[in-house]
Amino acid sequence: MEWKPSPRRRTRVKWLKRLRRITFYRTLRFRLASTFILLLALVLVLVGFVGTKILRHILENQSEQIVREQLGALKPWIHFDDSGEPYWFVDRTDPEEEAEVSRLEAVYVISDEQGNVRLDSADPALDPMSDRRHILSNIQKIRSSGEPVVQIVRGKDKVQYQIVSNIWTDTDHHRKWYVAEGRSLADDKKILRTFEYEFLVFLPIALIACAVVSWYSAGRALSALQSVQRAAERITGTNLGLQIPKRGAKDELDRLIGSFNEMSGRLKSSFEQVRQFSTDVSHELRTPLTSIQGQLEVALFTAKEPEQLKEAIENALQDVERLTNLVRALLLLSQSESGQIPMNKTEVDLNELVSDFVDEFQIPAEANNVQLVHLTQQPIMCAIDRTQIERVITNLLSNGLKYTPTGGWVRTSVEQDGEDVHLIVEDSGMGIPKDHLPHIFDRFYRVPDTNPEKGLGLGLSFVASIVKAHGGQIVVVSELGQGTKFELVLPSGVARETAEVPVLNGNVPYV
Ligand code: ADP
Repeated sequence: MEWKPSPRRRTRVKWLKRLRRITFYRTLRFRLASTFILLLALVLVLVGFVGTKILRHILENQSEQIVREQLGALKPWIHFDDSGEPYWFVDRTDPEEEAEVSRLEAVYVISDEQGNVRLDSADPALDPMSDRRHILSNIQKIRSSGEPVVQIVRGKDKVQYQIVSNIWTDTDHHRKWYVAEGRSLADDKKILRTFEYEFLVFLPIALIACAVVSWYSAGRALSALQSVQRAAERITGTNLGLQIPKRGAKDELDRLIGSFNEMSGRLKSSFEQVRQFSTDVSHELRTPLTSIQGQLEVALFTAKEPEQLKEAIENALQDVERLTNLVRALLLLSQSESGQIPMNKTEVDLNELVSDFVDEFQIPAEANNVQLVHLTQQPIMCAIDRTQIERVITNLLSNGLKYTPTGGWVRTSVEQDGEDVHLIVEDSGMGIPKDHLPHIFDRFYRVPDTNPEKGLGLGLSFVASIVKAHGGQIVVVSELGQGTKFELVLPSGVARETAEVPVLNGNVPYV
């Protein structure tokens, strides 16, 4: 039995086919190529149309010129006999004269003022030209305009003739004559037809050639897009930095590939940051948790005396406090970085604020035998979020004291510089190695082997995010073994909305 698809299946196949066709029409390649061909077709048709018009105009002008000359050339050959009748005065045996005259007498009419034809080409095809009514109307036109009449007359042979007519005066016999001279436009028509025919043949050939070229070149240009698409499809969490090779054409597509590569590079580095951050957080949480577990095990299994039990619980509590601090700091940092902490700006005398903190830090400074001084006094007003900037000052001062050995100094100052305010915290401490300088603002980053007390490595990340929120910048200058200078540049008025990477790390020799 012959298999026939069910009507439902037939409709599905029809729809699928239609869908495929629509998708094809929507491709960029098809749209680019078809737009180009359509435009070209339009331009070519326009050029053909205008070209034909111009050619026709040129031919008509040329023809009119020729006929006017012929009319002028006719005069010496027409004489008038004693009764005043016109006749050809030609030596027909002279080939030159014969040639010239036969050109002139091919299309001509001479009639009297009443429209009676006296001489004409004697060609029945030219009867419309010798028609009395036609002649009389022309005579009228010549009289009213004073100019020769130029017109195209259709002969009985369906050929068009260019005619120029005028009125001559026979002064000898005091008579006026209507004279019309003309030429066949058949050749001109032939030229026009040839042009039109050749153009009509050329048009589809040109369009087909252009269609092939534009289809091919659109495909070539868009193949780079396909490689971008394929690369984007291949991107997963494990190969984020995927790079597409450039074609070397230095065109828009190469720029697109460049931007794509940069974007995937940026994505890779942010994913790595996130990954690093989770590793760091787990690590930071694991250490105190292991310690707490150890202390609790000691308390549970080995402590015999109440003092031992107390000591284990105290140690565990210290670690819990460290954990609490860490979690609080992380929460604050993420809030600060995501702009969740609302900015409450007020005009504050920054010199006074820093000076107060320097006073507060005198006790730990003296305990470490570090000289802590605030150098400037004059009030310097700056629009800041007081609580957040206090956090910045605390971090920088405690770092200065922490990383400055006994006998050293920490100095602070606040200076006005035009629209900006510079807050400087410098010390004569251990300094930061050049390789580590660009990373000190990263979360959990600590320069290895230099940390006398174990910090969280979050203090400077805080400083950076707060300064960024104020639209400011940080310049760090540090020399190993000699000291470090943190210079915060804050706009004294209203903070800029978006600040680009706010941290400028410099490492010029410390003086
Ligand atoms: P930490 O809690 O470790 O101090 P920070 O984010 O405040 O974390 O600082 C990051 C690292 O930068 C520190 O571990 C330290 O190595 C370095 N650092 C910060 N301030 C100074 C300073 N004044 N002198 C030398 N090194 C410093």
